Amino acid sequence: MAAGHGSLAGYLGARVGADAAAILAFDGVAKRYGTLQALTGVSFQVNRGEVVCLIGPSGSGKSTLLRCANALEGIDAGRISFDGVGVDDKATDVRKLRRRMGMVFQNFELFPHLTVLGNVAVGPVTVLGMQRSAAAARAMDLLRKVGLADKAQQHPAALSGGQQQRVAIARALAMQPDVMLFDEPTSALDPETIGEVLSVMKRLADEGMTMLVVTHEMDFAKRVGNWVVVFDRGQVIEQGPPQQIFERPTVTRTREFLSHLGWHGESLASEAPLVERQAPAASDSFAAQLIPTGSGGHPGADVP
Ligand code: ADP
Ligand code: MG
Repeated sequence: MAAGHGSLAGYLGARVGADAAAILAFDGVAKRYGTLQALTGVSFQVNRGEVVCLIGPSGSGKSTLLRCANALEGIDAGRISFDGVGVDDKATDVRKLRRRMGMVFQNFELFPHLTVLGNVAVGPVTVLGMQRSAAAARAMDLLRKVGLADKAQQHPAALSGGQQQRVAIARALAMQPDVMLFDEPTSALDPETIGEVLSVMKRLADEGMTMLVVTHEMDFAKRVGNWVVVFDRGQVIEQGPPQQIFERPTVTRTREFLSHLGWHGESLASEAPLVERQAPAASDSFAAQLIPTGSGGHPGADVP
C-alpha cells in the first residue's frame, strides 16, 4: 500500500463504497517511456459511488495513469483492474471496456463538423448501435442536464470553452459509463467558465456517478472529492480523505505542493461557495441553479 494509507485504517470503514469490490483498482502499476519512469508502484482504488481526486504537480504522471486506466497505454508492471477484470489481460476486450469509462479531456476534443446534438448522439449510434431517434432523444436529455438544450443545433465553434466542455461531459455520459475519468477538465478554460463545468461535475457526483478526477481545483477536490490521491514524480506520495490532505497532510511534499498552489490549510468547515469566481451569464440560468449554497459535506456519502 502507498505511504500514508496504513495510518488511515480508521477511515477505511467510512469510505464510500468500501463494502463492495472496487470498480477501478491500481496495484503496483509501473510505466516507462524509454528511460523515463513515468509511474512507479502506483496503488490506489476507486470504489463505486466515489469521487476520487488526483492532484499533483505537472509532469507527475496523472495523465499517464488515466491513459493506462483505459488501456490507451500499456503498463510495464503491476495490475489495473476494472470491475474485477485486468485491463491489460490478453483476453480483455479493450473496446468494450473503454465504453464503460467516460473520458473528459482538457481540450474537449469535440467533432467540429458535427452539431452539439450530433456530438452527443454519435457514440450511441456508431458504437452501441442505437437507433438515431433514440440516440437523439438521449442526447437531448443530457444536453438539458448540462444546461445546453438551446445549443443542440449549433456547432462546437459557436460555443464558449465551458459550454464545449459541458457538451464533452454529455457526450461521455451518453455511453452510460460506469465511471467517468476527467483529466484537468477546467485547465484550458477562461476563469469565468470554470464554475459552470465544476457545477455540472458536482451535480454528477451528487447523483452518485463514480468519478476519477485529475484537477488543480483544490476547492473542488476538498468539497466534492471523498478521497484524494497525491501524486509526485510518478508515485502516490499520500492518499486519504480531503480533511487529511488539506488540513493535516502527513507528507511534507504534499504541503509544499498545496502551498505552491496558494493553499494554506483552510478549514473544511468553511461555508464559502464552492466556486466563488462563478459569474454565470444572465441567459445561463442552469449554471446559476447549480451554484451550491450549502456547506461542502461529501455529496456521495449516502450513495449506495
Ligand atoms: P501530468 O499529467 O501529471 O502532468 P504526464 O502523465 O503527462 O504528467 O507525464 C508524466 C511524465 O511522462 C512526464 O515527464 C512526461 O513528459 C512523460 N510523458 C508523458 N507521455 C509521454 C509519451 N507519450 N512519451 C514520452 N514521455 C511521456
Ligand atoms: Mg496531465
